[in-house]
Amino acid sequence: MTSLDILAIAAHRDDVEQTCGGTLLKMEQRGYRTGILDLTRGEMGTRGSAADREREAAEAARILRASWRGALDIPDGRVENTWENKLKVARVLRELRPRVVILPYWKGRHPDHYNASTLGYEACFLAGLGKLVVSRQSSVASLHTSAVSSQPSAGTNPGATGPADLALHRPFKIIYATLYYDVRPTFVVDITEQFEARFASLMAYKTQFSDQEAGKDLFPAQKEIRARVEAMARFYGMLGGVDFAEPFVQKEVGLVDDLLMIPVKSI
Ligand SMILES: [Zn+2]
Repeated sequence: MTSLDILAIAAHRDDVEQTCGGTLLKMEQRGYRTGILDLTRGEMGTRGSAADREREAAEAARILRASWRGALDIPDGRVENTWENKLKVARVLRELRPRVVILPYWKGRHPDHYNASTLGYEACFLAGLGKLVVSRQSSVASLHTSAVSSQPSAGTNPGATGPADLALHRPFKIIYATLYYDVRPTFVVDITEQFEARFASLMAYKTQFSDQEAGKDLFPAQKEIRARVEAMARFYGMLGGVDFAEPFVQKEVGLVDDLLMIPVKSI
């Protein structure tokens, strides 16, 4: 099994497409291996079943050229920062060994989103604890996407300990995708060239975003979504002096080596 360079973790299928899909695709185009972990499977959605959403998520991952996509079995609408859930995420982190983890921002309207942020952060910490034993037994349902090596452990070594235990791993960097929340990003990623594919990955969720009668008041029509998604990407693009961008926050300060290489014009 090859490890990942970047893993994006989010509460719901389609969150990654809305907040950092362009960045994931751009990183894949630079030769990095990317992955997506959805904490829930979308069984509470007004439209479509969890099975529909699984198919759509696989198609979206193919468009974003993710090497791996999996979903945990945490109940939709009940993402909670429990010990059990932290272990589930820590197990995936030890299996996939990403250097960079993208989490949702820690504030927001939807409790699943901000809970996913804290849960993800604490799982990153736990995954690096030497004395914590995490077996390979897995509750991840993985989807087979384009370039994927299949999920490494689903169903293997149930309850195993000893040689089947996973080696510790702590990601080097955690960044937060902030698009769902009105906060000033610490940096943006230029996704001008990835914007159309990112929008296509969102539209892969046909049960959610096609123009249809069921849930009409909750779900805006495609044209309106396009306008919204484009406006947001343009706004963050403008902050970075490019056409389209995705916003992120990092808790650490930026480190600069060469003053002449700092991007984004001041005046
Ligand atoms: Zn969501």
